[in-house]
Amino acid sequence: MKREGIAILGSTGSIGLSTLDVLRQHADRYRVVALTAFSQVERLFEQIREFRPEVAVMVDEAAAERLVDKVRKAGLATRVLAGAAALGEVAVMEAVDQIMAAIVGAAGLLPTLAAAEAGKRILLANKEALVMSGSLLLEAVQRSGARLLPIDSEHNAIFQCLPAHFERGLGQVGVQEILLTGSGGPFRELPLEDLAHVTPDQACAHPNWSMGRKISVDSATMMNKGLELIEACLLFQTTPDRIRIVVHPQSVIHSMVQYVDGSVLAQLGQPDMRTPIAHALAWPERMSAGVEPLDFYRVGNLEFQAPDPERFPALRLAENAARHGGTAPAILNAANEVAVAAFLEGRIRFTQIAELVEDVVNRIAATSATDLDTILAVDRRARAAARDWITHRSEDRHP
Ligand code: NAD
Ligand code: MG
Repeated sequence: MKREGIAILGSTGSIGLSTLDVLRQHADRYRVVALTAFSQVERLFEQIREFRPEVAVMVDEAAAERLVDKVRKAGLATRVLAGAAALGEVAVMEAVDQIMAAIVGAAGLLPTLAAAEAGKRILLANKEALVMSGSLLLEAVQRSGARLLPIDSEHNAIFQCLPAHFERGLGQVGVQEILLTGSGGPFRELPLEDLAHVTPDQACAHPNWSMGRKISVDSATMMNKGLELIEACLLFQTTPDRIRIVVHPQSVIHSMVQYVDGSVLAQLGQPDMRTPIAHALAWPERMSAGVEPLDFYRVGNLEFQAPDPERFPALRLAENAARHGGTAPAILNAANEVAVAAFLEGRIRFTQIAELVEDVVNRIAATSATDLDTILAVDRRARAAARDWITHRSEDRHP
């Protein structure tokens, strides 16, 4: 059997590492064709040595030079490319059958779009790319006959709980509501007045999942759930009215689908991203992921709550953007990316993330256009407005 060629965009990140771990277990079935990273030379070099890809991309030019040197000295045949444009080259390589989109943030949009246009099977972890581009990415997938499989655990769970023909429309297949679950993050029970003083490390200490720092902060504000609401509307062709967010602190249920006859289907498992990754890689087959089976005696109890709108204002902002559509999600996403980076750098408080995002979405008018140029332009404008907020507005509130 010919082995399937895999490219991983963002191979040095949390999702990238989990993907390589699954691929390591199935070397008879898959071969790694391309790996990419932003600047982590040591880690990417180790991956090149183990997986021997044809191509490796290092976005940062100086880091790329160091990598080229190491690869040459080690006598490895991998071709090293530098710069962001090379990500797009990798995405369309003939030898690539499946591409794992695991870059964090808007930086993943262009290569993911290129992969969609080239008809590749896309495993989508990079939710920001979908949120900002809206139907653009999905249309590219449709046009080329590509396939998009969700890696985000909730969307992967929903995909597993929907019938194969869900694309006819959720109403048509008897779905009443999607139940999008989320843990509530590390601050679910923190006294509200303490939220303004939490540190980046506290925000990144997620109770159930180990993830990159940006998505960890998003989980703490629940902007992650907000982005996932938008993601679900797009992937499953529905509106926020048909999606209910349910706080489920144990992260054992990864999401559910409620049907009109009263049935609720859920997908359960360990909070380990190797499960959705293995599911999508092998789909429509199944293969082992290296994940321990769920032990219900140890799980004991499952709890459910409604999200607290006062604690998690980001949810309301994301819901508004989902309803508005057009460029509204791109504005929300760009402002949030800048705000989270500023929080991680200690420049704004945790509670200012949502304040900043709200200010930016109120200041920039969203339009219904969703062509690429419009999206990239509004992304730049929202980032500039967010940076402006940080310089001019944050001082009066920051200690
Ligand atoms: P991470 O920060 O651990 O890794 C990010 C990867 O992207 C790294 O390989 C990094 O080198 C690369 N990268 C960063 N900036 C880049 C840029 N400007 N250009 C090119 N490459 C760049 O992030 P992660 O936790 O692995 O998350 C990746 C994506 O998957 C995010 O969109 C996140 O929302 C999504 N996701 C992650 C998880 C999880 O468990 N980690 C779960 C669901 C969804
Ligand atoms: Mg998720």
